[in-house]
Amino acid sequence: MVSSKPPRKVSWSNWAGNQSVDNVSLFKPRTEEEIQRAVQFAIANKLRVKAVGSGHSFTAIALSRDVLLDLSDYDAVIAIDNLANTVTVQAGIQLSKMNLILQSNGLAMQNLGDITYQTIAGAISTSTHGTGIKLTGIANQVVALRLVLADSSVVDCSATSNAELFNCARVGLGALGVISTVTLQLVPAFNLAVIEQPMRVDELLENLDHHIADNDHFEFFWVPHTGWALTKRNNRTLDATKPMGKMSHWYSKTLMENYAFGAVCMLGRARPSLIPKLAKALPASGRNEYSDSSFKVFASKRIVKFYEMEYAIPREACAEALNRVRRLVKDSGFFLNFPVEVRFTAPDEIPLSTASNRESAYIAVHIYKGMDFVPYFKAVESIMNSYQGRPHWGKLHFQNSETLAPRYPKWDLFQSVRNQVDQDRLFSNSYLETVLGK
Ligand SMILES: Cc1cc2nc3c(=O)[nH]c(=O)nc-3n(C[C@H](O)[C@H](O)[C@H](O)COP(=O)(O)OP(=O)(O)OC[C@H]3O[C@@H](n4cnc5c(N)ncnc54)[C@H](O)[C@@H]3O)c2cc1C
Repeated sequence: MVSSKPPRKVSWSNWAGNQSVDNVSLFKPRTEEEIQRAVQFAIANKLRVKAVGSGHSFTAIALSRDVLLDLSDYDAVIAIDNLANTVTVQAGIQLSKMNLILQSNGLAMQNLGDITYQTIAGAISTSTHGTGIKLTGIANQVVALRLVLADSSVVDCSATSNAELFNCARVGLGALGVISTVTLQLVPAFNLAVIEQPMRVDELLENLDHHIADNDHFEFFWVPHTGWALTKRNNRTLDATKPMGKMSHWYSKTLMENYAFGAVCMLGRARPSLIPKLAKALPASGRNEYSDSSFKVFASKRIVKFYEMEYAIPREACAEALNRVRRLVKDSGFFLNFPVEVRFTAPDEIPLSTASNRESAYIAVHIYKGMDFVPYFKAVESIMNSYQGRPHWGKLHFQNSETLAPRYPKWDLFQSVRNQVDQDRLFSNSYLETVLGK
């Protein structure tokens, strides 16, 4: 039955503040039935509806002009199965909340990105990933989904039931329905031993294959205007944890990575020509060794706001592509105060996963909030185009459905599922019209 109460009109903006909307009808469901009622309201009033997570996408992917479904009150753990190592959660749960509950039940996610503010549904919908060449993105850890479809009916899907819908909806961009619940395959809780260390970037790239193969989770941050990269090597350990002391953690992760870095960025925004000099201070941040529970190691605080673009390219093209970005920075006169982040994942078979059917390297570029990102991002994007680069769905880019279609081997499958389940484009918005077509 359609709700008789008119929804509240609100303004909404994303974390980075570069996407916003006024006067949108807000629904905050607490039950699956209330999600269905919000969808029925949209159908009855010929409106479009978009579910939103924590608003941590930089693109307009979560932007709704009509009906906004905020699932932050629909965020409970429904069931934990300690025999199968699975958890079933409501779609609006934040990864940070879920991680603590999993830890207290002796379980953990196999891999995570570098923050945990996202909701589980938001994270999987954009193909969110961490690093680790034997591991895939978060969506590939999903073993079952429950969706509210465009006719407001509810469907369960998994590898054995409604398999095509399941495969597509794991990275569905919010285009196939509202995810109601998610079941994830977990692993027993584990600890990671961490080594954070600056390396010369030329040497690092020469030995890249070894670094990737020899570590469970390898990533690095090349510091523009320098020959240095900050590397992070995380490996599973059975030893007792040796976390950073409270003071060193505050100094390294809060003061240096956030407040001091933020101050340096602010100074660079005011006087861009100072940036190359300021950058030289970054690699001096020394070597850290510690160990901790996996989810505490993977995720960090992010207080400094920025804009980001990230491309997935074939893993074997990584060194060449990064060297082209380095040359671009040298030749172009761009002043860049944020490191370029590089990560790696295994392939999966999800149609719109950025690692669909290929082992991937991810190259991410950032610009401090309030600075013009367009010239730099466009120049980097043209390099990534020559490797059939796939942009992160939640991070800025300039592609459209025509340029994207040939980069995904299962593009047509996704489109045919979309046509079956949402012919009237109830769940579309202008971003989806651009990247998927009308
Ligand atoms: C500081 C920062 C760090 C980041 N780090 C990483 C990283 O390490 N790795 C990485 O890959 N990405 C990273 N990201 C990107 C981020 O993980 C993604 O943009 C993610 O989608 C954000 O999740 P969210 O809950 O905020 O979703 P939103 O941005 O709110 O929404 C994303 C999409 O999910 C859809 N959606 C949300 N809920 C539902 C639902 N219930 N049903 C259907 N669709 C739904 C929305 O409609 C939208 O299409 C980072 C972003 C920021 C700002």
